[in-house]
Amino acid sequence: MAILKILKYGDEKLRQKCKDVSKISKKIRTLAENMVDTMYANNGVGLAAPQVGENLRIFVIDVSMEDEPLNPIVFINPKIIKKSGAIKSNEGCLSFPKAYVDVRRYKNIMVKALDLKGRTFVIEAKDGELLSRAIQHEYDHLEGILFIDHSRNIFDTIEVLKQNNLPSIEQDKIVDEPELEEEILKQESNTRE
Ligand code: ZN
Repeated sequence: MAILKILKYGDEKLRQKCKDVSKISKKIRTLAENMVDTMYANNGVGLAAPQVGENLRIFVIDVSMEDEPLNPIVFINPKIIKKSGAIKSNEGCLSFPKAYVDVRRYKNIMVKALDLKGRTFVIEAKDGELLSRAIQHEYDHLEGILFIDHSRNIFDTIEVLKQNNLPSIEQDKIVDEPELEEEILKQESNTRE
């Protein structure tokens, strides 16, 4: 067991597209276990390999509540095979200490990945539950995409980053997703009525 160092926003490695894991070797298993330990040590719900400096398509998630048994899930070479709906999500990231912003996410997703034994599994996460949002957040890390790239309000994000002494947003990385924004605005006007 080892606690790994988490790279902070501004590190180039967080912007790289990760490579597929070609073989689930002892080294990969140890890395995944250390990532789980590191996630717990930092009270996170997810952690992706590039955050610990490894250019590999692996992430770990545990969305269990405090009164529930631990339930770490390791995703290797994940693929999002279905996505639908839209939802607002207030997110943070272990690479952005104390910075939380509102971002856009799909509501429902289905992901396929390999576990540590090389077996394929499929997880469906619905209704914008934490697991659905966490999978999207961690999956993005493997593509070099960060949660702030999905910001609903860029000006708020700039302010939050500044307050937490983090580098500012990278305008060219912002993800254009008007359909998601439109759907979220529709939901917000419905709740107001
Ligand atoms: Zn993150």
